[in-house]
Amino acid sequence: MPDQLVEVTAPHMDPEEFRRAGHAVVDWIADYWATVGQRPVTPSDPPGTVAAALPTTPPTTGGEPVEAVLADLDAIVVPGLTHWQHPSFFGYFPANTSGPSVLGDLVSSGLGVQGMLWATSPASTELETVLMDWLAHLLDLPQRFRSTGTGGGVIQDSASSATLVATLAALHRASGGRWRDTGIDRRYRAYTSTHGHSSIEKAARIAGLGSDGTRAIDVDPDTQAMLPAALRAAIEADLAAGDVPAIVVATIGTTSTTAVDPVPEIGAICAEYGIWLHVDAAYAGAAAVCPELRWSHAGLEYADSYCFDPHKWLLTGFDCDAFWVADRAELIEALTVLPEFLRNAASDSGAVIDYRDWQVPLGRRFRALKLWFVLRWYGAEGLQAHIRSGVRLAERFADQVRADDRFELAAAHPFALVCFRLRADDDVNAALLASVNATGRVHLTHTRLAGRYTLRMAIGSPQTTATHIDDAWTLLATTAKDLLTP
Ligand SMILES: *Cc1c(COP(=O)(O)O)cnc(C)c1O
Repeated sequence: MPDQLVEVTAPHMDPEEFRRAGHAVVDWIADYWATVGQRPVTPSDPPGTVAAALPTTPPTTGGEPVEAVLADLDAIVVPGLTHWQHPSFFGYFPANTSGPSVLGDLVSSGLGVQGMLWATSPASTELETVLMDWLAHLLDLPQRFRSTGTGGGVIQDSASSATLVATLAALHRASGGRWRDTGIDRRYRAYTSTHGHSSIEKAARIAGLGSDGTRAIDVDPDTQAMLPAALRAAIEADLAAGDVPAIVVATIGTTSTTAVDPVPEIGAICAEYGIWLHVDAAYAGAAAVCPELRWSHAGLEYADSYCFDPHKWLLTGFDCDAFWVADRAELIEALTVLPEFLRNAASDSGAVIDYRDWQVPLGRRFRALKLWFVLRWYGAEGLQAHIRSGVRLAERFADQVRADDRFELAAAHPFALVCFRLRADDDVNAALLASVNATGRVHLTHTRLAGRYTLRMAIGSPQTTATHIDDAWTLLATTAKDLLTP
């Protein structure tokens, strides 16, 4: 006879308790959004402040009401945040979120499904496939990226993952499959411009090419765009040394200045040498929802893969990177490993997509939901309005810079990033950035262009209006006056 079962039950939050607590949390987020513009953009407390305010050990007994956690959120966490949704946040690139995105993500959390295989949650896979085709339609991407042809799209966590996966597929192709089966047997090379994102070098390292295996191609000093002749010369030099060019990463909208590499010329070179072309449009890809900005995507028909981040400028919360390949078979061949415990009739039939073969991890969140909520709420017209608002505000800010002799524009501003500086030394520009940021009224970041310290004003928060731009400019102009007056 088995021992009598003593049942143990954990104190779960039942659906009615969840409903009540959930309403309180949604109210809290709505209040946060309604008031975020009144807060300092960045915190001012010294390192360790937040950690010191927290207990060093977890609670033994539970049962704390969600209101107690929300109170600590207000008292401890929020004062220690940089407010990325603040209308005067102008740093890095924006990290957009929106009401529909948060709600879609909440549903995804509530469902808690794993979409690693079609069979583990068919609707999760099929909604994602359809939405990636919707996005390809919205951006007017080449037909070869659509799931109806040889290609297809998948949601990755970030552009860094997209670049890594593209690098692995490129290595698979360049090595004739040897990379996958027996490992690296030659020196394989990756190419990007000196303004290519750091994730490209990181991907090359992870893939086994090494940082030295990444060639940094010179840019045109006026446009910061890759020089095709320099790319060709680097490829020729590597071939002469017996190395194998595996992948070129071109950028549409570089992180420093939003420069656009000449993809038509770069693509023709890749086609000539049979090199995988990945196009990284992490930030600026969103601009292609507007027909008047699609010039930036010229030459995309050469690309073997392409990605952009809806989480940067398309009102979808992190993480959401949209990644497409022109030939899904190559990607799947490079990444698939099929253990017995994942075998199932649907996968064996070959009639379904198993997205686990399109990414590094096995498990995957139902990220398509937040995108679906966003696309249905805004529609193409709403998304276009958001992009156009950013572009207009950037033009407004650039006009203000241009009209003040003490300042200069440091690069073109085709999208919603304006690079500018005082006509003064680097330390004066660094002091200007530090002073305006110290007020807590704005947050800008910087880059270096041809060695020179340059301020970046990245516009795109959903709440930003002309008033926020004008206030930022007034703050910059008056601070400059104090700095330049001896
Ligand atoms: C932001 C950015 C990335 C990295 O984006 P993640 O999604 O955070 O990995 C890559 N490339 C470019 C051009 C970027 O601007």
